Amino acid sequence: MRARNKPWADDFIQDNNHIVELDPFKYKGDWSSLFGNEHPIHLEIGTGKGQFITGMAKQYPAINFIGIEVVKSIIVSAVQNVADTDQSNVRLINEDAKDLREIFQQNEVDTIYLNFSDPWPKNKHEKRRLTYKKFLEQYKHILKENGEIILKTDNQGFFEYSLASFSQYGIILDEVTLDLHAQEDPTNIMTEYEEKFSNKGQPIYRCKAHFA
Ligand code: SAM
Repeated sequence: MRARNKPWADDFIQDNNHIVELDPFKYKGDWSSLFGNEHPIHLEIGTGKGQFITGMAKQYPAINFIGIEVVKSIIVSAVQNVADTDQSNVRLINEDAKDLREIFQQNEVDTIYLNFSDPWPKNKHEKRRLTYKKFLEQYKHILKENGEIILKTDNQGFFEYSLASFSQYGIILDEVTLDLHAQEDPTNIMTEYEEKFSNKGQPIYRCKAHFA
């Protein structure tokens, strides 16, 4: 996702520190206290502009949602989205997801969403893919027993790679859908990319999985 540099982004994030957690590392093992309840924690990695996480937060008020997005000039749109919907069950983190074990305690997260992750198609970039084994190690650590990974993408190559990577890691595939929009699903919250690609007639792939 390309984003123009936004010189005001730092100030905007500071002003919205009730939405963006500026020091997420200090909440490791203690995210429930930040939300003020013991509701399950769902984490979206690569939140983009926040359409999915705000839609989910509205649909599921008894779940706490955390979105992590590395690009500052993109996360500001997600911050605005959360502010507009005034949901108290969403927090955002402006970090790279490579250090999730520094942000979450073992077994702290119930579900991880990987929505339209950058596919990094060149072999030499495999390690950057969010379903590369180094990332899976982290997901396994922070997810509760039977916690889910839910992945959506339009990219067939990335989907196939992810299914193979999951299987090699011993992750159980619970559901594999090759055309998510073939059937009406009122509970499916679309991401920005999902809307864009499905409007072009491209099939959307989804996989639900959990660690053995
Ligand atoms: N999830 C959104 C959607 O479906 O519309 C955005 C998809 S966009 C293709 C991928 C997003 O993931 C970008 O905003 C990118 O900055 C973010 N991203 C990629 N790698 C990341 C990482 N390691 N940690 C956090 N965010 C990451």
